[in-house]
Formats: sequence, structure tokens, C-alpha cells
Amino acid sequence: MSNLSQHERPTRAEIDLDALAFNFHSVRRFIGAGVECMAVVKADAYGHGAVECSRRLEREGARWFGAATLEEGIELREAGIAGSILIFGGIWPGQEAPMISHDLTPAIFTLDQARRFDRAAADVARRVQAHVKIDTGMNRVGFRCEDIPEVADRLSHLANLEITGLMTHFAAADDLGQTDFTERQMARFAGAVQAFHDKGFRPKYIDMANSPGAIVHPLSRSGMVRIGGLLYGLGGDVLPPEADQPELRPVMAVKSRIAQVRAIKKGETVGYGRTFLAEKDHLIATVAIGYHDGLRRALSGNGHFLVHGQETRIAGRVSMDWTTIDVSEIPEAKVGDDVTIIGRDGQEEIRAEDLARLIDTISYEITCGIDKRVRRVFTGTSDQN
Ligand SMILES: *Cc1c(COP(=O)(O)O)cnc(C)c1O
Repeated sequence: MSNLSQHERPTRAEIDLDALAFNFHSVRRFIGAGVECMAVVKADAYGHGAVECSRRLEREGARWFGAATLEEGIELREAGIAGSILIFGGIWPGQEAPMISHDLTPAIFTLDQARRFDRAAADVARRVQAHVKIDTGMNRVGFRCEDIPEVADRLSHLANLEITGLMTHFAAADDLGQTDFTERQMARFAGAVQAFHDKGFRPKYIDMANSPGAIVHPLSRSGMVRIGGLLYGLGGDVLPPEADQPELRPVMAVKSRIAQVRAIKKGETVGYGRTFLAEKDHLIATVAIGYHDGLRRALSGNGHFLVHGQETRIAGRVSMDWTTIDVSEIPEAKVGDDVTIIGRDGQEEIRAEDLARLIDTISYEITCGIDKRVRRVFTGTSDQN
């Protein structure tokens, strides 16, 4: 499966593209036909590899892709992705022409962006499409609701710009205790959509929902939903456990190998700061992964890896390139043995959500944080479709 050649450091992220496809279909089935399901592949598909994931998702029927930046959009186009690509990050000055030449659709949230895009379209004698981002309470980016009538009026005078979508973003769709607020966002958005209609706009796409919105708040499934985390099987901390939800499979596993094993005596310490003090004789294994690889240093003395199907705790500090684990209970552990940082080994499984919980973050930050230095190994190539 991993097919390692001799010169390769064995630290790798295994990406199960069949699990990705499974999740895509599982989510689509759950939210129902007739709702366009945008595959959000920003941030290198949350660390899973945007090109390979998008190619597979396009083969599975995805027609829209969500990227954060112009550069991410260009990467997808150059890899041959033919579907529509929405760029969430707006248009910075100078990005207008490449946005047009790569046929990318920006989500615009200032009049300056709209004017620059319109002018750039005029320069090449084209009409271009954009979506409009509306702020209904997130207070991050987007036109504010009270400004919408005037914004719609201004946009209606930009002859080279066609508004094909209106979107907003939920602040707390994953928290059932804040459903009131999510519903207020939906109501404000409906008002903004109406204001655009009143100015004669008929955008094809009206979209609100991210992963938790689409699953937990059926009324937010309008023409399109934008699904990120669920595609990668990261439902564990963005879907309330009590909510009815689609079946999901983890897509990323992170593996490495033991580089050295040593027996240490009672009284010795391990690693920087000497935070692990042996209270008896211990067997310590050093694994070729560290915080530069994305194994967060906050997991020092806290997290677990799997070796020979057993949990082994991190002993001492995670350093930049190495992590030491206590394998005293696995005397057969030896150099070259596989180590699972995220994923399954026998009966045991560690999910990105589990690591996230230990250090008070979310699984998205864990998978996004797996560094480029960690080779992605793609598995699952079934062509049934
Ligand atoms: C990242 C993002 C999404 C996807 O959110 P998930 O919770 O991963 O589904 C949707 N919309 C916008 C605008 C985003 O930036």
C-alpha cells in the first residue's frame, strides 16, 4: 500500500479516496437530491490533498468546488478540474485578470472588489460571474444586511458583472443551544435575498449552509450547500452527537515508524526540559514525527500513538522532528515498526477528533496542520461510476 522506497522517510499521511467518495455520497443522500453539494477543498482539502481529492470528487459527480484563494483555484484548474470553482477569499488588487482567465468565480464582499472585477471584465470584453457574500451575524466578511438595498443598487450598474449566487455563513450551526441565532441568520439572509430580487437580480445559487448547517438545520438547505469537514469524515466535532447524521468514514491516517529503541533506567529523563522522569526502568521508542510535521507540541506527555495495536503514551516533549513514546508494555517493539498517529491499528483507533480534544482545538486544525513534508499516499482508485 505505502510502497516505500529505501530513501523515503516513512512518515506519511494515507488518504483513503474511497472513504472520501463514500462520505460525499453519504452526505448527498442525507441532504436529498436537488440540493447542489459544493465540495469545499480549500486549505489543500483540509490537508488531504486538494488536487487528488477534487479529481476523485469530480468523478463522483461534484460540480462545484470551494477554495479559499486565487492560488488554490489556479492549482485546481491546472490539475484539470473542469467544474465551477468558488473563491471564498474575495479578490485582492491585481487578482482580477487571473481570476477571469482561469474561469474562477469569486465571492465578493466589498464594492471595490465588484468594481475592479467589472472593469477587468470590460478590459477583455467579457461578462464575468461572481457570488455575493452577505454577513448575517458572523461579523467576519460580507456585506452587512442593512447595506444590501444600496449594494444591490450599485451592483446593478456594473454591466460586465453577473451575480449568480448569494451566500452567507453560519456562526454557530454546530451548537443546538444557539439554534435561535442560526434561525435569525436565515431570516436576515432571506431579507437580503429579497432585496436583491427587488432590484431585479435572479441569482441561480442561494447558499447558506456549511457542514453542520446542512445536516442539523434542514431549512438551511437551499439550492446549494457547502460541505467541507464532512467530506473528510470529520463529523465528530462539528456535528452535535445527538443530531441525526450521515455515516462518515475517516479519510486521513497518519503513520510513521520507530527509528530507535532504548532501555532507560529508573531516574533517567527523556527529551527537552527533562519532563519525563523514569520512575522504573522503561523502554522508549523514538518515532520519526515531530511538531514540524504537524504533531502539535501541546500533545507532549499527553497524547498516544498505536504500536502493535496497543496504545502507547507520548513520553516527554514532542520535538521538531521526533517524538518519544513509552513502549515498556510492548517489549517486542523494534526499529522499523509501524506507528499510527491517526488511524486504526487492530482494535484501536485514534481519530483527528481525539487529538483535537486533548489540546482544545478541532479536528480541522489537526488535519490542516499536517505539514507538506509529510508525504501524502493516496489509496482507493475504484472507478465504479
Ligand atoms: C470553510 C467554509 C465552508 C465549509 O465549512 P465546513 O464546516 O468544513 O463544512 C463553507 N463555507 C465557507 C464560506 C467556508 O469558508
